[in-house]
Amino acid sequence: MDKAQLLRDKSQCLLSVNREEQKKQEKQEKQEKLVHTKVLIVGVGGLGSPVALYLAAAGVGELVLVDFDRVELSNLQRQIVHDTTQLGQYKTLSAQATLQARYPDVQIIVINQAIKEEWFKKNLGSVDVVVDCSDNFATRFAINAACVKSGTPLVSGAALRWGGQVTVFLPSQPYSPCYRCLYGDQEEQSEVCSETGVVTPLVGIIGCTQSMEVLKILLNIGKTLCGKVLLFDAYTGALRTLKLHKDPACPICSKNSDIRKIGNPI
Ligand SMILES: [Zn+2]
Repeated sequence: MDKAQLLRDKSQCLLSVNREEQKKQEKQEKQEKLVHTKVLIVGVGGLGSPVALYLAAAGVGELVLVDFDRVELSNLQRQIVHDTTQLGQYKTLSAQATLQARYPDVQIIVINQAIKEEWFKKNLGSVDVVVDCSDNFATRFAINAACVKSGTPLVSGAALRWGGQVTVFLPSQPYSPCYRCLYGDQEEQSEVCSETGVVTPLVGIIGCTQSMEVLKILLNIGKTLCGKVLLFDAYTGALRTLKLHKDPACPICSKNSDIRKIGNPI
């Protein structure tokens, strides 16, 4: 091997070491960034369980858990953050105990009540991302309206029977649709997991996908599902992504929504 070749090899080796060090540093920076983030999880059931577990494991600094329900035996086949020793406890406290035992550095704040608009007004400003893991339309619409108002990113997920979906709303971006753009003004549908049922691993798949979207938003990496709805059919294994456009007539996120409220309805 000639001298020039040796020098080329040596410089390649140094470049490779530099790249490795750079990657290590970037990883460290991302980890440190996560420590200073705060995520609000509404609902600590089937979806909220994997979301809370994975975000705590990933190193999110602060989790706010909201749920007014208590742990029941029938919950345990799909709500994996709770166990038989926690029956009868508030789901928030039960989840807090599980998470703190595994990840003591994560700060967990619990809210054992259905949150109202007033609470959102006071608290959403300090939250980096809201994760909707609730199981009814009334709550989902309320969370959506609050997030649009405060400009807080929202990661929405749902799972029922064999079907699940995930989408992301980024209200600070003018192109972003909102949950109301997706579902219009339809009345609440009463179907919920506890009554209709859901195949157990599906809530894990949907919850994990939600937590992935949260991390992408927090770290500003990759492409989020904003403007898209990811649909998963567990029965056939089919995965589809549909486009979701902002509804210019949406009463929640449209620029003209305030004008329309005052003027004649369109
Ligand atoms: Zn909208």
